[in-house]
Amino acid sequence: MRSHYCGQLNETLVDQEVTLCGWVHRRRDHGGVIFLDMRDRDGIAQVVVDPDTPDAFAHADRARSEYVLRIRGRIRLRPEGTQNPGMPTGMIEVLAKEVEVLNTAATPPFQLDEHGKVGEEVRLKYRYIDLRRPEMIDKLRLRSRITHSVRAYLENEGFLDIETPVLTRATPEGARDYLVPSRTHEGHFFALPQSPQLFKQLLMVSGLDRYYQVAKCFRDEDLRADRQPEFTQIDIEASFIDEEAIMGITEGMIRQLFHDVLDVELPAFPRMTYAEAMRRYGSDKPDLRIPLELVDVDDLMKDVDFKVFSGPANADDGRVAALKVSGGAKLTRKEIDEYTRFVGIYGAKGLAWIKVNERAKGLEGLQSPIVKFMDGIVETLLDRVGAEDGDIIFFGADKARIVSEAIGALRVRLGEDLDLYTQAWAPLWVVDFPMFEDDGGARLQALHHPFTAPSCDVETLRNNPVEALSRAYDMVLNGTELGGGSIRIHDQAMQRAVLEVLGIGEDEANEKFGFLLEALKFGAPPHGGLAFGLDRLVMLMTGARTIREVIAFPKTQSAADLMTDAPGEVSAEQLKELNIRLRQKPKVATDEA
Ligand code: ASP
Repeated sequence: MRSHYCGQLNETLVDQEVTLCGWVHRRRDHGGVIFLDMRDRDGIAQVVVDPDTPDAFAHADRARSEYVLRIRGRIRLRPEGTQNPGMPTGMIEVLAKEVEVLNTAATPPFQLDEHGKVGEEVRLKYRYIDLRRPEMIDKLRLRSRITHSVRAYLENEGFLDIETPVLTRATPEGARDYLVPSRTHEGHFFALPQSPQLFKQLLMVSGLDRYYQVAKCFRDEDLRADRQPEFTQIDIEASFIDEEAIMGITEGMIRQLFHDVLDVELPAFPRMTYAEAMRRYGSDKPDLRIPLELVDVDDLMKDVDFKVFSGPANADDGRVAALKVSGGAKLTRKEIDEYTRFVGIYGAKGLAWIKVNERAKGLEGLQSPIVKFMDGIVETLLDRVGAEDGDIIFFGADKARIVSEAIGALRVRLGEDLDLYTQAWAPLWVVDFPMFEDDGGARLQALHHPFTAPSCDVETLRNNPVEALSRAYDMVLNGTELGGGSIRIHDQAMQRAVLEVLGIGEDEANEKFGFLLEALKFGAPPHGGLAFGLDRLVMLMTGARTIREVIAFPKTQSAADLMTDAPGEVSAEQLKELNIRLRQKPKVATDEA
């Protein structure tokens, strides 16, 4: 139907006849001449319709916003003075010979360039219109280029794209499952996969050797943060590899991706242990674009006459950390109060600070509510953080976890507020995670998942599980975890030991993933892999503000689809077939329910 996309037109095509198909972006009537801005996936082109072509003119005259038209015409240079160099097609226009109305359109719920005036609910309800916006199309186009680059790279490295089931058993990824009732097995349920973890491991047992999949995953979590109940992973697994090999392959994949899609050469990926990341940045996904670091000062604070500091400094699970911000002495009281409120979100009870006005003057040159307690140690403290005139030093003192989280988050916030970034892209690998996490409950939890291999032997693991490290690795970029994975356990004795430490008894293990345990008996090769969160990767690469902007049909914070109105009620008939009776009528009952 068309010869060119609107956005492809330019001066090289002058005098050529073209046929365009698209939507009326804007229509202007200039005293007898009609201007149509025609829009399609690739851009916008100006079409001029004059009364010399009466048929075309009549159709153009009746066209309105978002009508679907087919236009045949000749390209000409725009007259001097009406050219628009800011627009890719701004030097030319199409003089229409034929205008055909392919479809009319009701008045849209919002004008595309006025989308900011309506709430996000309206945009989500009419998502198909929202997606007509060039910015949205650009993001989806980039998403497509990203998966294309990733697929090409992995195929080239010998990975096979293999689909795993969507109707499956609960996977032990730790979140709540989405359940699907089975009609043929009354009272039984499928679970939608939280990840293809066990299937990809089984593919390794099968000898497929290298697997990947752009896989949909489902987690029924409360969507506090910017998350989606269904999201996409680039899921990868390989056999006969160690962490060096798999990290090398996937680092190459991301490097290639940034080169292909953004023309960016990523810098080297440093390696950092989990312990070092927590110590220096208070986070296991540090944003290394920000040159601020947490500095431990527990040893200095043990004897100060200030319980808020000396308490945690002397406690086993305590931490006192300083964060120096160069030039930060200019922060106002109001700003500091806001940061105090901010660290409160992470459980910090306060935020102590010292402004260094003039170091040469000793205590006199410092401004701080706490400096009176620091007599005797203040010089050592200032030296340790490298304080100079004009700096501010913030302090966190509490349980180590709270200090790391709160001051770590403050570090990121200050980086953003004061625009401290030293580089555009800062990738790294975080390694040597603890195997288990003690979240205060009766059982230890797996920090990654129960199939992650520890870096010690069975006996050491059993004797001191809390100290055990895992063979897991996370790839982090600009403070976002892009992907994470591990070398897996392929040895039965080790798998049993890990499950025991987790307090998962034989019955529970057999019930949940007996099929994997059984498969490990039949010649499982050493293997490992990882998964990248595609949505977050696209978000980072497009600079989108929310994950919803890079998903064609996203769900809301309450996990609903406003366009299709899902989840919806089902008929009594359907429920009966599934042998399901609702304990309560749904809140808003519809007629057929
Ligand atoms: N299945 C893991 C996840 O979804 C990733 C992996 O270990 O490969 O987080």
